[in-house]
Amino acid sequence: MIDPSFDKDHLWHPYTSMQNPLPVYAVSHAQGVRIYLEDGTALIDGMASWWSAIHGYRHPVLDAAAKAQLDRMSHVMFGGLTHAPAVELGQLLVQLTPPGLDLVFFSDSGSVSVEVAIKLALQYWIAGGQPGKNRLLTLRKGYHGDTFAAMAVCDPVTGMHHLFNDVLTKQFFVSEPHSPFGTECPATELAELRTTLARHQQQIAAVILEPIVQGAGRMYFYAADYLLQVRALCDEFNVLLIADEIATGFGRSGKLFACEHANISPDIMCVGKALTGGYLTLAATLCTQQVGAMISHNGGVLMHGPTFMANPLACAIAVASIKLLLASPWQQQIAAIESQLYSELTPCLLSSRVAAVRVLGAIGVVEMHEPVSMAEAQRYFVGQGVWIRPFGKLVYLMPPYIISPEDLRQLTTAILQFVQSAS
Ligand SMILES: *Cc1c(COP(=O)(O)O)cnc(C)c1O
Repeated sequence: MIDPSFDKDHLWHPYTSMQNPLPVYAVSHAQGVRIYLEDGTALIDGMASWWSAIHGYRHPVLDAAAKAQLDRMSHVMFGGLTHAPAVELGQLLVQLTPPGLDLVFFSDSGSVSVEVAIKLALQYWIAGGQPGKNRLLTLRKGYHGDTFAAMAVCDPVTGMHHLFNDVLTKQFFVSEPHSPFGTECPATELAELRTTLARHQQQIAAVILEPIVQGAGRMYFYAADYLLQVRALCDEFNVLLIADEIATGFGRSGKLFACEHANISPDIMCVGKALTGGYLTLAATLCTQQVGAMISHNGGVLMHGPTFMANPLACAIAVASIKLLLASPWQQQIAAIESQLYSELTPCLLSSRVAAVRVLGAIGVVEMHEPVSMAEAQRYFVGQGVWIRPFGKLVYLMPPYIISPEDLRQLTTAILQFVQSAS
């Protein structure tokens, strides 16, 4: 058993205070869709460890890939050296991502892959003789990570801008989309984006956005038509398009990548989270040959190179995870999860505390009128034998794709009872 007081006194958790930390639960192990606490409690996982554990925990194929790679090497530097796991993963990513994304930069986490994407965009215009194009345009209510360049494109209100106002680069923001997924989007909804691009195209390097699913900032699914029109505007005003697929990549929205809903290719794309099936931290930034060629002409180099770049252990597991996904009936699994989430979460609307229910792919969202207490909600859900971690007004599910209908029903039932309990 661990000493919980050491954790409380010494370990930071995500977004917590050391004076008044939120309660944490000690996990002994996890298997399939179940997380086992040290006291023996089994919890059905509704979060896939923040979008990542798409195959569940301790999948035999991924465990075997990890062990096999450990017997070769867990790490070796990527400066001047290469290895099969990196090459094989690169091949898969080039093949599977939208057409044109042919170059791959491996990094350690989603936030860093966003930094690299921004650096690619800025270096593209520096190399192209337009160094004044060094600002980004993004959507309100977005989330792109916690490092400084990424923070600067997170929502200015719910993000951390007030805290770091003097430090963050001032970027351009336009209103978030309001046409829901599955609808056409009136051109008026892009009027502000068009005006901003028209007025500031000499300063704007790229538009960065989360395709289709605005995640941590909002948990909202917007019209594919909106994304299609953004792509056209980027071309019209000569700015690059960066798609942050860190949350959406590898099937979560019902397509392998969310850009496919609009049939578009961005110039630069970030993937992370589910890349290794939740085993290790790894991310990648892809870009077109055009971006690579511009940066590299006249002897230019991309100025980035993390110590653990293309970590072989992480790459080997990522290769195994992607192959496992492709060999599975993932489209049917996600379609089945989608229809079950839809039918079992819709009754939440009968509660006066609930403002909206949204479902896309293997993502189910119940938006409340008022923020819920995370600590209380967690305690409630653990008592129900499920692991669900709301934030703000959002109670949501993004389970591993392998979840059974019975286990999924326990998750949706717990949410339904939760929203009914205090009404
Ligand atoms: C989680 C996330 C990130 C940040 O990834 P980390 O691995 O946490 O650094 C960036 N963008 C989106 C859309 C995300 O969901």
